[in-house]
Amino acid sequence: MPRQFFIGGNFKMNGVADSITSIVNNLNSAKLDPNAEVVISPPAPYLSLARQVANDNIGVAAQNVFDKPNGAFTGEISVEQLQDLKINWTLVGHSERRVLLKESDEFIAKKVKAAVDGGLGVIFCIGETLEERESNSTIAVVTRQLNAAAKELSKEQWAKVVIAYEPVWAIGTGKVATTEQAQEVHAAIRKWLGEAISAEAADNTRVIYGGSVSEKNCRELAKENDVDGFLVGGASLKPAFVDIVNSRL
Ligand code: PEP
Repeated sequence: MPRQFFIGGNFKMNGVADSITSIVNNLNSAKLDPNAEVVISPPAPYLSLARQVANDNIGVAAQNVFDKPNGAFTGEISVEQLQDLKINWTLVGHSERRVLLKESDEFIAKKVKAAVDGGLGVIFCIGETLEERESNSTIAVVTRQLNAAAKELSKEQWAKVVIAYEPVWAIGTGKVATTEQAQEVHAAIRKWLGEAISAEAADNTRVIYGGSVSEKNCRELAKENDVDGFLVGGASLKPAFVDIVNSRL
């Protein structure tokens, strides 16, 4: 079975009820590739609204979740609360949280574990900074980030994970990775899945690319063997998101 193409739309901290409703309505009425899985990720206050407005074939993801089930954790959101709102996915480990909020590999791995234990699908974001790329440590960095999650998850639990390779230097910068750069890291991630997890995980886990994906560059990237879709930030707020969803048509 080929891996299903997966497109996530990360709205980040953008939008209010009106604009989010109109983005979702635009997606509802667009002709989307029926073979693609589409999951949008609005800011937390609008998760419920997005779930209510979006067609059933469009998934909705939180941008973050906490690793504890409940209690005195002001400002955090639990897996159970997401499930209660019929939100079936969450992003974890986005570089903006790793860098700005200093989230560690271990903390992120615990959140991946809590989300998967609670039945959520996880878009698990990994990627290197520009400094790390320039010092040739890209593969070492993504391997370290993956190993942290592997310590927490059972081999079977990887079935609930989509890995988003997002080089930090490409996020929101307009500087997209070349098709060769993306394919090289995606292939290394798949090799890691085969060696550290299982042959099934290597075959079945979607590895998607994120970092300045647009309607202009998506088609070339989508042709690469190990690019199974995209995590889209800025462009997911625009009508061009539909073209990215349809980049394999
Ligand atoms: C992201 O937020 O995950 C992202 C890839 O952003 P952008 O597409 O704007 O670079």
